[in-house]
Amino acid sequence: MDTYQIIQEDQIEALLEEGKKATKEEVLEIIEKARDCYGLSLEEAAILLQTEDDDILANLFDAARYIKDKIYGNRIVIFAPLYTSNECTNNCLYCGFRVANKQLHRRTLNVEEIVHEAQAIEKQGHKRVLMVCGEDPRKTHINHIVDAVKAVYQGADIRRINVNAAPMPVEDFKKLKEAGIGTFQIFQETYHRETYKKMHPSGSKSDYDYRLTAIERALEAGIDDFGIGVLLGLYDYRFDVLATLMHAQYMDERYSVGPHTISIPRLRPALDAALSETPYPVSDKDFKKIVAVYRLTVPYTGIILSTRERAELRDELLNLGVSQISAGSKTNPGGYEEDDREATQFETSDERSLDEMLQVVCEQGHLPSFCTACYRANRTGAAFMELAKDAHIHEFCQPNAILTFKENLVHFGSEETKAKGEKMIAQELEKIEDEKVKKETQERLKRIEKGERDLYF
Ligand code: SAM
Ligand code: SF4
Repeated sequence: MDTYQIIQEDQIEALLEEGKKATKEEVLEIIEKARDCYGLSLEEAAILLQTEDDDILANLFDAARYIKDKIYGNRIVIFAPLYTSNECTNNCLYCGFRVANKQLHRRTLNVEEIVHEAQAIEKQGHKRVLMVCGEDPRKTHINHIVDAVKAVYQGADIRRINVNAAPMPVEDFKKLKEAGIGTFQIFQETYHRETYKKMHPSGSKSDYDYRLTAIERALEAGIDDFGIGVLLGLYDYRFDVLATLMHAQYMDERYSVGPHTISIPRLRPALDAALSETPYPVSDKDFKKIVAVYRLTVPYTGIILSTRERAELRDELLNLGVSQISAGSKTNPGGYEEDDREATQFETSDERSLDEMLQVVCEQGHLPSFCTACYRANRTGAAFMELAKDAHIHEFCQPNAILTFKENLVHFGSEETKAKGEKMIAQELEKIEDEKVKKETQERLKRIEKGERDLYF
């Protein structure tokens, strides 16, 4: 694999330099053009990233909201992370799980314990889980992950398991594919080689190129939904966001599949992290700009926001292009049964329960979705992208979001959430244009009320 071609630092720096020169009119023109939902070039993204003008930013945010609505409607997909192990042989300076952290309570869950965690997550009302673990060849090897995935599908009503784990060889990715994972997620942390080297001083993660090429090996193994991102705060966000987009563009051009999702983790305090302060702090204003730039540049890619961020900011970001959020999250293995702060990867900020979060999402005019239909109906990778790019994804997503939210309300909703949720469902049903689909959705809603589960288009 020709790793040199993927990220070209000189080009990124040149684009960012050039981006500073654009006039206000030129920037506004780019934002206007983005409203067509065909995405933007790296040159254009660089110009947007250099923008500091509040008027232009207001325009940018408005366009991000418009594009998100046009492609995804007002749906917000909801999931929870499931940490299977905090053991790790790497030494990432920012992470609580790093090998040099002697204070951390180490724990690798066995398959039974993992199923218990999944059941506890399910009891909150979740259907989608992101499985996460440290990298330790003796503890979190591929068989451990695969056994965990298979056991959770069997032992809990979790319908999509995405995985965030260390890079692996093609044979291991094939095992993950065979176990039926949804998205494979891996963050480059920073695309800036020199910074990467400093942040990952030892362990297998210090190999930048092996990490960079992981999604290509995943693709070779048949996993065509992959998620990327950088850990914001390690290096200049403008560089890293543009590099993420360059990576996305490379995949799209070379393999005709762009990333299914981009995540936007921002550095958080972690127990005994080696970094005493954030090297390149990202302000809330910049953070919002980042979300909006991603939305405009790769409009068909999902943007994932975690509970690393504060409640108020999360609520605001729902309006700026984010399409997936986690809720009610714990970042320590076994955390849903027993919350041990000395075992967490980093501190979360938004501690609201899923039930509370559902109310907020509805209050803000969004429709919560627990849908897992696409990947179960093989609408993944290029097939998914085609639907998303033509905005056809609406035809499936809208009724599926309604049905999965209804199922959640029937089995898990508090009275308050039910009241707000039912109102939202009634309003959203009206948006289904195809009368046949609308009628069928209404019938299925009645079946769900009578106790049927897992109805989808
Ligand atoms: N160990 C695997 C790896 O590093 O790729 C997978 C799981 S790791 C637990 C998931 C992600 O957590 C990392 O990719 C990193 O971006 C993020 N992370 C680590 N420390 C963090 C911190 N202090 N604040 C926010 N996110 C952090
Ligand atoms: Fe280990 Fe991942 Fe944390 Fe690095 S980020 S120390 S690899 S768990």
